[in-house]
Amino acid sequence: MRWVGGLAALAAGAAYAVACATPLAAETDEACTNPNALGVSRTVEIDTTGGPWLGAPHGDPNLLRPGEVVLTFDDGPIPLTTRKILAALAAECTRATFFMVGRMATAYPEMVREVLAGGHTVGSHTWSHANLGAIAPGRVKAQIEMAITAVQKAAGAPTAPFFRYPYLSSTGASVAYAKRRGLAQLAVDVDSKDYLTRNPPLMVRRTMTRLKARGRGIILLHDIHLSTAKAVPDLLAHLRDEGFKVVHLQAKAPVETLDIAEASAPDKAPVGERAPRKRAKASASKEAKDTEASPLGWLFE
Ligand SMILES: [Zn+2]
Repeated sequence: MRWVGGLAALAAGAAYAVACATPLAAETDEACTNPNALGVSRTVEIDTTGGPWLGAPHGDPNLLRPGEVVLTFDDGPIPLTTRKILAALAAECTRATFFMVGRMATAYPEMVREVLAGGHTVGSHTWSHANLGAIAPGRVKAQIEMAITAVQKAAGAPTAPFFRYPYLSSTGASVAYAKRRGLAQLAVDVDSKDYLTRNPPLMVRRTMTRLKARGRGIILLHDIHLSTAKAVPDLLAHLRDEGFKVVHLQAKAPVETLDIAEASAPDKAPVGERAPRKRAKASASKEAKDTEASPLGWLFE
């Protein structure tokens, strides 16, 4: 895992505004009949101009107050598991952000629309779950833009200029592009590591332990794992019972897709912003190649 961005990313800062401070369940969600629901404590509107980082280590540490969490789900959507997670979130009248892989959104466009219909925020996670730190620099832009276009096309409605790096693997060139493109770069404060265990109670316990040690943060989960889908109701119950509050992130303005010619054109990074081409590590190259081989390749890592 690599974090690149440094002072330039810090300088970009994170611009956001509190759009709402009332419990969502009581405010808008007529379908919510659970009086003890976890709910949404507030919605934070993110101005993605300049491609701010959200979450540690580069993001504004005061984006979230003590006790606040943001729920994020990566790698989907996929009907079997994403639907279970949507049901669990709806039962607790709470909302999350989904970082969708372009190929998955293309395969299951109805799921993209179901996620949006649930009131959740939708961002993107590259076209094929590529490790941007391991592929040729010239392919980074296409991976990002193809995902945005695919997710937007499947959604048929506005989605957010929110982006998360597969494997949390960014490069100087990818960060520079996201900043110029105005894509918020979502980091991770609390990693559930749900890809390492298929034991829901263990995953919930580990996540709560990490969260309590940190006190707040953006939580990473994956909606492609059945074990995660089984764990989410229990995780939400723990968050509620232990006094944590869910913050829903929304974009100030929707993402705009590029036309095909522009999206597929090489990135014209300003001189001085271009990252030196580095020889990718063999293992990282293999990982990227593997994920390219199958639209669901990363499911089985
Ligand atoms: Zn991922």
